[in-house]
Amino acid sequence: MTAGKWLKTACNLCYINCGIEVWVNDGRLEKVRGDRSSPKSQGYLCNKATRIPYYAHHRDRLTTPLRRRADGGFDEIEWDVAIAEIAERLRDIVDRYGGKSIALYGGGGQGNHAGGAYASGLIRALGSRSVFNALSQEKTGDFWVNGHMFGSQTCHTAEDVHHCDLLLVIGANPWIAHGFPNARDHLNQIRKDPARKLIVIDPRRTETAEMADLHLAVRPGTDAFLLAALLATLVRSDRVDQAFIEEHTVGFAEVRQALLKVPVEEWAAAADISIADLERCAAMIVAAKAMVVRVELGIQQGINSTLNSYLEKLLIMLSGNFGRKGTNQLHSWLQPLWGNSPNQTFAPTGDAIIGGLLPPNIFPEAVLKDHPDRLRCAWIDSSNPANTAANTEAVERALRSLELCVVVDVAITETARLAHYVLPASSQFEKTEFTLFNFEFPTNYFHVRAGVLPPLAGTLPEPEIYTRLAIALGLLPGDNVLAPLREAARRSRAEFAAAFRAFIAENPGAVPALVLYHTLGQTLPDGTAAAAPLWGAALACAKRSPQAVRRAIGASDEVTDHQLGDLLFDTIVAARQGTAVTRHEYDEVWSLISHSDRKVRLAIPQMLEWLARLDPQAAGAPKEFPFMLAAGGRRMFNANQIFRDPAWRREDPDGAMLINSSDLNELGAKDGDWIAVESVVGRLVVRCKVDDAMRHGQLALPHGYGQAYPTLDGERLINGPRINLLTESGNRDPIAGTPYHKNVAVRLALVSAHEAAAYQSQSERIHMRAAGQ
Ligand code: SF4
Repeated sequence: MTAGKWLKTACNLCYINCGIEVWVNDGRLEKVRGDRSSPKSQGYLCNKATRIPYYAHHRDRLTTPLRRRADGGFDEIEWDVAIAEIAERLRDIVDRYGGKSIALYGGGGQGNHAGGAYASGLIRALGSRSVFNALSQEKTGDFWVNGHMFGSQTCHTAEDVHHCDLLLVIGANPWIAHGFPNARDHLNQIRKDPARKLIVIDPRRTETAEMADLHLAVRPGTDAFLLAALLATLVRSDRVDQAFIEEHTVGFAEVRQALLKVPVEEWAAAADISIADLERCAAMIVAAKAMVVRVELGIQQGINSTLNSYLEKLLIMLSGNFGRKGTNQLHSWLQPLWGNSPNQTFAPTGDAIIGGLLPPNIFPEAVLKDHPDRLRCAWIDSSNPANTAANTEAVERALRSLELCVVVDVAITETARLAHYVLPASSQFEKTEFTLFNFEFPTNYFHVRAGVLPPLAGTLPEPEIYTRLAIALGLLPGDNVLAPLREAARRSRAEFAAAFRAFIAENPGAVPALVLYHTLGQTLPDGTAAAAPLWGAALACAKRSPQAVRRAIGASDEVTDHQLGDLLFDTIVAARQGTAVTRHEYDEVWSLISHSDRKVRLAIPQMLEWLARLDPQAAGAPKEFPFMLAAGGRRMFNANQIFRDPAWRREDPDGAMLINSSDLNELGAKDGDWIAVESVVGRLVVRCKVDDAMRHGQLALPHGYGQAYPTLDGERLINGPRINLLTESGNRDPIAGTPYHKNVAVRLALVSAHEAAAYQSQSERIHMRAAGQ
């Protein structure tokens, strides 16, 4: 028994990663509170974070490697056996098909990216660059637009909500989903200040829309029509910021011509927005001294998603709300979380690789297509595509078809059940972690989180898993080679830098992350060896933005530019809470644009062609599937797939489908009934919940459900909807491949009393037994 204590770490439930303190007592994480001394979040805590103990401790944790038998069951095996067998099968696949036949899927759950640094290093050493993850399920359309407008797909816009006098929210619900630091604090401040305004564009009258000065309840799937009509209104009436456009952009004349062709009245009608409301929105934007635009998956996973991202950026630029206090900005990075891969394609399917990433929607085709370079092996780390990627049936078929599938995770997920091997990882609070979700401007924060719990017996942190595998594959030299590097690190950073660079030059096939872990990492405090790969990132960051780094870490004039990166690295690994890594002046934003003239490119030919093709007649749901379902959305008690134990939910235990009362009445059902949802690829039976904030014809299901969890007698029952049984891989963006999850055409049907009783019984058994009753 050890005495309890409060330890600093971060919340792992959304990409804001608020600083928190956890009460750890006798090896268990028992309580959570906001870390008031965190410079980033200052004690902010939402309802979800208080439930983290349900993530940290539950009875479905894996504690031994598993090997699947031919009958679909699993054998428990020793770590050494698992690693040796996996290494042999990997070698065989590389020998027969080449490294390109392997893909990494995932590489770090919600803001926990340490594992990804090691997994991607190993996959690269085997000859593969193919990576699928959640970013390419959500954001690559935005990255593609940024690549064209700003010169690199790693240029990424930040939101200075703190200082704006107009917050324009499009397809987001920050009161529930957060998405920017201390979201509720900022929304409350805006609500209380008559000089500050809030506009929300969302089909549903969300909790955020309830607070808005103007809510545009756009028809689902018609955001592009509305945004284009809004831009056209500004252009027609010459209410764009001409001085900003001339000074900072290129290509306005072409964009203006394209927007003048937009039939404003017709497209506003297609979006079901009155001209009066459109005009009111335009007037509020023009009147704002500093508007910031906050967008999310409502448009990034909606119909025309890449075009939506383009139009959103045009609105920022044409209104001149960029690069000033209280507007949108670009932000600097400690380490870009994604890459820049313009004009690259994935040979087996011909799809674009954006930000160095492949879209999960093409995963089934990448495995199943009859192509010599199709994928034969998937290495899946902290990800559950069987539940999260579009078209569960196709994803499961692809997973079963692989010659080798290895899953690294904390629990036996739906994907793990189909893997050949499952390797039990330590949880995100049992090891050193960090997040590369650092999207703030002018001050950006980084948090290296030392483990606050010991690794659960039988589990390993990812650096140890990948070390064992690399040794078995002959990709990590022995200690006779690494020890001198480690000694150099102990003597001085300069000596280590010279030795490490010489080593990498002589060993181009090495995995740098693992070499750093075993050398420099062993000199770091509090067991933070896993943070060693950040050393190179810190050096590069200091080189890119020396003044911003100096301000952030308070470096004295005696610190040379040469020493600055090492000082930054030492600062972040020594701090037990988030620490500022860059602090910019506002006018430095222009230096973050990659185009050599530091000007924004407004005219993107593919986007203007797409705009010209928009057809209001094609908007809306087809006759045979008349409802538009948002498949996945944030609620008070959901959080991607990270929580396995259903008992964590205080409300909404079944992940109910939201539906307008008139739609439910027409169907002949009532609040709380079980009803069937059918799409072109599948059927789900869900509990329905009346929500008159929904539009007529609009439905919504939450993400983060559909996981199996063992009852007390060991039976595994599925909790809530596996929403991707309804989504179809082809319902996706033509450029980015991102799914149109917010616009899934479905129909509804009543279910028999017998079927409803079966679902009701299952729900009761899950929740009673999960709660231990
Ligand atoms: S806002 Fe996100 S990171 Fe912060 S406490 Fe809530 S879930 Fe956690």
